[in-house]
Order: sequence, then structure tokens, then C-alpha cells
Amino acid sequence: MTLDRFGRHINYLRLSLTDKCNLRCVYCMPEDMTFRPRSELLQDDEIDRLVRIFAELGFSKFRLTGGEPTVRANIVDIVGRIARAPGVKTVAMTTNGLLLDRLARPLAEAGLQRVNISIDTLNPEKFKKLTRWGEVEDVWAGVHAAGEAGLGIKLNAVIVRNYNDKEDVVDLARLTLFQPWQVRYIEMMPFGDVADFQQAGVVSEEELRATIEAALGPLAVVNDGQLDGEARLYQVQEALGTLGFISSVTQPFCATCNRARLTADGRLRLCLLREREVDMMTPLRNGASDRQLKDIIEEGIWWKPWGHGLAQDVIPLNRVMSEIGG
Ligand code: SAM
Repeated sequence: MTLDRFGRHINYLRLSLTDKCNLRCVYCMPEDMTFRPRSELLQDDEIDRLVRIFAELGFSKFRLTGGEPTVRANIVDIVGRIARAPGVKTVAMTTNGLLLDRLARPLAEAGLQRVNISIDTLNPEKFKKLTRWGEVEDVWAGVHAAGEAGLGIKLNAVIVRNYNDKEDVVDLARLTLFQPWQVRYIEMMPFGDVADFQQAGVVSEEELRATIEAALGPLAVVNDGQLDGEARLYQVQEALGTLGFISSVTQPFCATCNRARLTADGRLRLCLLREREVDMMTPLRNGASDRQLKDIIEEGIWWKPWGHGLAQDVIPLNRVMSEIGG
């Protein structure tokens, strides 16, 4: 069991498989983003070894992210190896869904259990504007393929003021009337050189709930207000699904944080919104033993920061979101 110095049990690893993406969402990365050469990224065998080591330390939930995890070569094989590692209970993925049309079934057969699919609006023109070139119907094809493959589905929407903060929010909520999905509204977080735009665009949970209630009626609290992961859950009356609000900026959930992140270039990141990272790649490639790698992980986790510093205007500048994975 891996504990930090505040007594939090850290057992959830978010593993970025690549910094590359087949979209360029405006809040995630600059349009002219440059990507790392393949040799600087964790190779398949290195991922396999590190996952086993994390699992031996008590990590049981692994979420694959990116960049876009489905553009990584051998993704089905990577998922299979992670799912088979002793101690791994949950393998999930955060994806833009564009390639799920053909990958959902093989991924499910390899052991993937759940997908969080990013879809910020149902409006094709706005979707294109937010993602810089994406087609929303390709995401829908992915959502349907995921459902047919038996994967659990959550839909993630980052809300950006003056882009998708009004009728789009309601359209997304309406989906839960007929589908057992969780639609999650994510407050935009500031990173690197796109921070000014992001901070100006944050829409609070309260404002979002008011917009939805004005259109669809009062929302009921689900789970007595207890967090589901990082999301506070509500439900439209008689809906099959739920609405989740991930309000990292205005209502942080750092006290219950149980996660660590491993970037595609092999850095252990202790808090999404803090710059501090621990280099795992150099010792890994210099022949460190499993015990030495475990010591590095345990020491890093021990010093995990309590929480982010957005309230004090501390913004992480060393990476943008696509390099960490969310
Ligand atoms: N490409 C995949 C996807 O689109 O889901 C996985 C990587 S993406 C970085 C993971 C999640 O982070 C997505 O739901 C995305 O919308 C969200 N995200 C990206 N930039 C963000 C920001 N500045 N604030 C909050 N969420 C952000």
C-alpha cells in the first residue's frame, strides 16, 4: 500500500501512452504543438514492467490517456498486458472516441472495462471549432461502438465560456434522459502558455447547474452528495443517467485524491496542477532493479503535494494538458 505523508492511500495510476493526438482542442494544446520523438517515450516493455511494479505497490486502477491513447501503436496489446498484470483490477481509458469505431471491440476483448469519451458539444460546427478540425459524428460512432462492445461509458465535456456554456450543456444533459450514461462537466484548468485563455473561460459548477435546471427542471443530488471519483453527481428527474460535475478549480477535491500520473516520457507527476515530477525514465534505462524503482515511486508519492495552488495563482507552466493526460 502506497501512502503519502498526509495519509492518503494512492492506488490509481493515470498512464499517458503518447503526447500525440489526432485533435487539437483549444484548451488542451497550442495548434502548432510539437511532439516528442518515439524513442523518448516509454516503450511497450517498459510500460509493462512499470505497471507490474506499480501493481505490486498496491495500485489497482489504471487509466490510459494521452495525447490520444488510441493512436499509440499496439494499443490493444498494451491494454491486454496491463489487464493481465497481477493485482490490476480496473483498466479504463480516456479517449476522444474517434478510433473506437474499429477499436472498441478488440480493446474490450483485451480487458478494457470502461471508457470516458470526450465530447464537449453535440453541435457539429462548434465541435469543429473546439477541436480545431474534429467531426462530432465520428465521436458518436465511437460511443455506439463502445456501447456495443459492452464497455462502461462516461461522457466528458470541458466547458468553455462563450463556446459551449449554454444550450450545449443542456443538450448533453438531455442525453441522460434516455441513456444510462454519466455526462460529466469539467471546469477548464489553466496550464502553460494557454493559461490566460483558460482562466478567462472557467464556468463554475453553480452556473452550469442553474443553466440545466432552467431548461430541464430541478436536479436531485445523487449518492448523498458523496463524490464519485472526482465528480459530484446529480440527476434530472426520471433520467436513466446522471450528471457529474468535476469542479477542480472552484471546489477542489484534493483531500480525497488517490492518484498519481505517469507521463508518456516516463515522469511520475504527483499532482496534475503542480510542476513537480520524478524522473523514472533515466533509472529505468540505466538498469535500475525493481526494488530501486519501487523506492523511487514510494519516495515520490510520500512527497505528493497536498493540493493545487490555483487559489494562490500558482499555475503549472512546464507542460500543457495533452502532455500529462488529464
Ligand atoms: N485525448 C483524450 C481525450 O480527448 O479524452 C485523452 C487526453 S485529454 C488531455 C483528457 C481529458 O482532459 C479530456 O477529457 C479533455 O477534455 C480534458 N482536458 C484537456 N485540457 C483541459 C483543461 N485545460 N482543463 C480541463 N480539462 C481538460
